[in-house]
Amino acid sequence: MNLIEAVALSKCYNEKTKKKVYAVKDVDLAIRKGEILGLVGESGCGKSTLGKMLLQLEKSTGGQVFYGDENISKYDFNKMRTIRNNMQMIFQNSSNLFNPYYTVKQIIMEPINNYSKDSEADKEQRIIDILSKVGLDSSYLERYGNQLSGGQRQRVGIARALVLKPEFVVCDEVVSSVDYEIRNQILKLLIDLKEEFGLTYLFISHDLSAVKKICDRVVVMYMGNIMEILPSIEENIKHPYTKALLAASLDINPRNRQKKKILFRENEEQIIPENGCIFQNRCLYSNEKCKNNKPKLENTEDNHFVACHLYKK
Ligand code: SF4
Repeated sequence: MNLIEAVALSKCYNEKTKKKVYAVKDVDLAIRKGEILGLVGESGCGKSTLGKMLLQLEKSTGGQVFYGDENISKYDFNKMRTIRNNMQMIFQNSSNLFNPYYTVKQIIMEPINNYSKDSEADKEQRIIDILSKVGLDSSYLERYGNQLSGGQRQRVGIARALVLKPEFVVCDEVVSSVDYEIRNQILKLLIDLKEEFGLTYLFISHDLSAVKKICDRVVVMYMGNIMEILPSIEENIKHPYTKALLAASLDINPRNRQKKKILFRENEEQIIPENGCIFQNRCLYSNEKCKNNKPKLENTEDNHFVACHLYKK
């Protein structure tokens, strides 16, 4: 069962000009209830924009978003407010979003105040409960953001996002600014919370080993387009871009990572092709068909989708 679905979802930043530039282009994507769906790709490929559009934190310029059976694409602020508690986002560097003059209690109280008429004592108890779920005790209630470590700040960010008991959470690069040990703790915490609260995550990351560790399926984006949707990031990869991205990212030896970058044509990424495959300028296998016809995202086998004319080879 799908919890969130995007249909031909697009974001164009210069709609009125002749040569349009898309951050996200005609994306079809379904996120199943209870899964962790990874979303990977290079910086600037549209991952965060897509995540924000699914939550209606950023308005699309085309297409639709469904939350269950509801088409929420055209919901205004007030209508979104009625379901906002079900859909939350955890950001890359939560500490930047905290008011430096707010205590942990005030930071987590903000969303509660928007949705609850409970007594102050009950609200505080909710904060203590969610803090304990993310591994922080009540002694943190009166601390300010600058009195916390990076890992503790990220935990407070997670607590703030989950305090309203959402169904769907977009995790945007949540482990990118913490060290290896904290990263593993946060990943374990996300899995534990998912199990406990029955959450569904869209896990946006450029950390492919983190994606490999926790995601059930993986979506690969390039320049606002979906290149491949894989049941697993470890095997049976079909798209040339996914192969290159993985080869450049997962090898623990930096020299090999550098070598494997030859799977891309470097320095071509700024040129956006007007027709055909969006990856043609960097693809080593590009041919005439790729220049003229945009490949469709096709279901090749067992829900493994690929947008490439040559995937069968
Ligand atoms: Fe490369 Fe052509 Fe496949 Fe695009 S369609 S990824 S250019 S082989």
